[in-house]
Amino acid sequence: MFKINDNYLKLPGSYLFSTIAKKVAAYKEANPDKEVISLGIGDVTQPLAPAVIEALHKAVDEMSVAETFHGYAPDLGYEFLRKAIIDNDYKARGVDIALDEIFISDGAKSDSGNIVEIFSTDNTIAVTDPVYPVYIDSNAMAGKTGDYLQDKQAWSDVIYMPCTAENDFTPDFPERTPDIIYICCPNNPTGTTLTKDALSKWVRYALDNKAVIIYDAAYEAYISEEDVPHSIYECDGAKECAIEMRSFSKNAGFTGTRLGFTVIPKALKSGDVMLNSLWARRHGTKFNGAPYIIQRAGEAVYSDEGKAQTKAQIAYYMNNAKIIREGLNAQGYKTYGGVNAPYIWLKTPDGVTSWDFFDILLEKANIVGTPGSGFGPSGEGYFRLTAFGSKENTEKAIERIKNL
Ligand SMILES: *Cc1c(COP(=O)(O)O)cnc(C)c1O
Repeated sequence: MFKINDNYLKLPGSYLFSTIAKKVAAYKEANPDKEVISLGIGDVTQPLAPAVIEALHKAVDEMSVAETFHGYAPDLGYEFLRKAIIDNDYKARGVDIALDEIFISDGAKSDSGNIVEIFSTDNTIAVTDPVYPVYIDSNAMAGKTGDYLQDKQAWSDVIYMPCTAENDFTPDFPERTPDIIYICCPNNPTGTTLTKDALSKWVRYALDNKAVIIYDAAYEAYISEEDVPHSIYECDGAKECAIEMRSFSKNAGFTGTRLGFTVIPKALKSGDVMLNSLWARRHGTKFNGAPYIIQRAGEAVYSDEGKAQTKAQIAYYMNNAKIIREGLNAQGYKTYGGVNAPYIWLKTPDGVTSWDFFDILLEKANIVGTPGSGFGPSGEGYFRLTAFGSKENTEKAIERIKNL
């Protein structure tokens, strides 16, 4: 008789975004004349840059001719893309990464899921709280998080590192020592960052405790402040203790085209086993990281035109972030983030829970946001708005909040 992976049965009943979708659908059905604006989802809205579209067209044409046709892609990804990444994302920042330390993939979400496989079930994970839900979910599916405690809205065997206004969204070292530490910086959902000093302390901590840091830098391109590192490898010693994940989704609009990469330095070892060689064997790597045409599109992001065009998209979103931040601040809301990330994290008014605030915004202002508690227990009392909408809708939404 076949058996299922019953870790799936431990997952909390309803995923955050499906609960939101249901509430919004019910509201719209009851109020068909109301125009609902979404500042909720973490998806981009600007079209792919012209330089990217041009590269896609060209690569598609190449596929139609035997001489330039491409079949299975190389395991680690095409060298033209890995080289562009090394030159632009690392060398330009004084970081030396080798070609065989970069692994192209179909996105950071897949890599976050797959990375779990190379670690023993015996590890204890620590996550900043609140955080992007994929890290915990993928570990939960692999049976590495204990039981879900409904009353605490938390897993019994996960170390949560609260990041709130009280500690300036900079996690403190946990009481129990973790083996795997997830850090997302700039952070989704709080939009906050760690300075190079703060991140360097975490690198030191990981080295001292023989822990590994899984560093998600999906929002690296949004960093505007000088003291925030773009890569964890800007910190001394990080190559011996950190894996870095990146994505083309939020910096260049590839959410629907799928492209990302993971860096695993050869210096990163468990005993004398290189994680780099384990990751090279992971399932999902052979042939299907990302198609040739998409990797060519990714290469175009690093061309002069591609850089200018994607920079303009980021500036567009960050202008929305400014509109939200300043608009809310003028209304007396306490806001965080929105300077190095397209997320604004706001404190809900005293005594108003995250979900209450969700209902108030939806019903009184017809705006959809995301309740902070959906990202972890420390997110209660906070709320996330995203800057990925149009400027017009963002302005309209802030006007409505003024009239709440
Ligand atoms: C959106 C997002 C990703 C997903 O990246 P993909 O490459 O689209 O899979 C990864 N990490 C964080 C924190 C994100 O918000």
